[in-house]
Amino acid sequence: MAYEVPSLSYAFDALEPHVDARTMEIHHDKHHAAYVSKLNDAVAGLDVPDCICALISDLGKLPADKQGAVRNNGGGHANHSLFWEILAPGGASNPTGAVAAAIESELGGFDAFKTAFSTAAATRFGSGWAWLCVGEDGKLFVTSTPNQDCPCMKGIVDKTGRPILGLDVWEHAYYLNYQNRRPDYVSAFFNLINWDVVAANYAKATA
Ligand code: MN
Repeated sequence: MAYEVPSLSYAFDALEPHVDARTMEIHHDKHHAAYVSKLNDAVAGLDVPDCICALISDLGKLPADKQGAVRNNGGGHANHSLFWEILAPGGASNPTGAVAAAIESELGGFDAFKTAFSTAAATRFGSGWAWLCVGEDGKLFVTSTPNQDCPCMKGIVDKTGRPILGLDVWEHAYYLNYQNRRPDYVSAFFNLINWDVVAANYAKATA
């Protein structure tokens, strides 16, 4: 089988004015597509799981000469697939239910979470991601990763977890609209989060 770029469930301009249509089109159709194409090239002829998370969480199972390409491009595929989903318009605009309670009890409340997440996004040097994850202890934590590393990558990241919310802070995610103003992009992102999707991700990660 080959991995595939998931279709967006919304139009390229659905996130305007916070993320512009041209950025979304290039990001999804060019950047994400390139990760998937290079990933499929890297795993050609190998017996790999259908689930991208299963593939990238244990890179050590792969032949040594494939691990770097799968780390970068498999991570890119997984990270962007999550990103499009948590941006889907129409869901709750604030945390609700179990994930809201966990943000309150484990992260000190929404404002503390927002500060920690924004700091993680702003201080990630160069390209990478900011994340809200469920750790192996079942508790929420905020982190960031460089490049296309995913928090699920055992032996790669400082602290392993299942990401339930992520923000792409590569320049390709915001440069057309925000240029060097990454903090403004991060701030705008909080208008776009679909907390119903995050709640569903949290339920799966804590099941
Ligand atoms: Mn990206």
